[in-house]
Amino acid sequence: MSGAAPKKALIIEDEANIAELIRLYLEKDGFEVYTADNGARGISEAERVRPDIVLLDIMLPVMDGWDVCRELRLTSSVPIIMLTAKTGTPDKVSGLELGADDYITKPFEARELIARIHAVMRRAAGAEPAPRRLEFPELAIDMDSFELIIRGAKVEAPPKEMELLFHLASSPNRVFTRNQLLDEVWGFDYFGDSRTVDVHIKRLREKLEGVSDKWSLKTVWGVGYKFETR
Ligand code: CA
Repeated sequence: MSGAAPKKALIIEDEANIAELIRLYLEKDGFEVYTADNGARGISEAERVRPDIVLLDIMLPVMDGWDVCRELRLTSSVPIIMLTAKTGTPDKVSGLELGADDYITKPFEARELIARIHAVMRRAAGAEPAPRRLEFPELAIDMDSFELIIRGAKVEAPPKEMELLFHLASSPNRVFTRNQLLDEVWGFDYFGDSRTVDVHIKRLREKLEGVSDKWSLKTVWGVGYKFETR
């Protein structure tokens, strides 16, 4: 990244104090920051600035965040993180279906926001090769040797279970819908239904339940699953 131009972030948020707070976080992290206080301005700013990341509030005057997201997606694949004050599951589902890359619930901490921004931008760029081995307390998932190691001992797990767990654990605390998991783990040409995911999750849980209180495989009711870390 040395010598590269600073990354540009566009914040679309009508609450000035929140927008300013995010601006501070991002500037401190080296971003060049642009803001827009309504959806229409956000869209024109996105066209003008060509940001590397968009932080998009849902509750905006005139045109809400969903419409802005849909509109941006017509012309751009810029990573979008939705900012939501709500924790209602329908919001999460619609956000992901509309093409948002992630969402974060207000209030959030600077560290969490920055971590998510970097994760989303990394995924979007595909720049860094993803690590093939993940380690958590009492758990290692090694996709080179296809080994699942729990409390230091190798545990037998079919390849699809390994891939599913690896996929979830690669983005800790990110919620995946069943359909996303089907697409991303099984592939678009797979003719299964979402119960396939549930069955694999169930089998993984039987192996992982109670192993550590630092992480767990969580069901997010009405949405899907996440690998939660604390
Ligand atoms: Ca707002």
